[in-house]
Amino acid sequence: MESYTHILLAVDFYEHCEVVANRAKDLALKYQAKLSIIHVVDSLPITDASYGGDIPFNMDITTELMTGAKKRLAKLAEKLAVTEDRQWLEMGSPKTEIVRVAEENKVDLIVVGSHGRHGLALLLGSTANGVLHHANCDVLAVRLLDDE
Ligand code: AMP
Repeated sequence: MESYTHILLAVDFYEHCEVVANRAKDLALKYQAKLSIIHVVDSLPITDASYGGDIPFNMDITTELMTGAKKRLAKLAEKLAVTEDRQWLEMGSPKTEIVRVAEENKVDLIVVGSHGRHGLALLLGSTANGVLHHANCDVLAVRLLDDE
C-alpha cells in the first residue's frame, strides 16, 4: 500500500475532537507524513435585528471568533507538534475550505470525525459527508463513540 505524505486534520473543537486529532497524529507517525491542521470559522451571516437585519456581517464578533479559534488551534497544534506554517485558520464553508486547502497543499489524506455538531447540521448535510464527496484524495472519517 502506498504511504501517505501529507495528512490534513480537520478540527471543529467540539466534543471528541481530541479522538480525531490523536488518530491523525498516529497516522502521521506511522507513515512519516507531514501533519497539518485546519479549522474553519463558519461564515453564516451574523445579522443584527436592530438594524433591520440588513447587516450581513458583524466585524467585532467575527474578529472575536477568529481570535478565539486561533488560540485553540495553536494550543492543539502545540500538543501535536504541528508548526505554525501547517496551521490553517479559514473562514467560509467548512467543507469547501477543507477541500480547497487539501488540494492547494497536495494533501493525500484528510482526517475528519464521523460527526461533530448535531441537529441542524444533520439536516443541512454534514461536513464529513461533504468532504468525502468533494475531495480528490482519501478521506478518513474517524468513527466517534456515540455514533448510531
Ligand atoms: P459534522 O459534519 O459537522 O458533524 O463534523 C464532522 C467532522 O468534520 C468533525 O468531526 C470535524 O473533523 C470536521 N469539521 C466540522 N466542522 C468543521 C470546521 N468548522 N472546521 C474544520 N473541520 C470541521
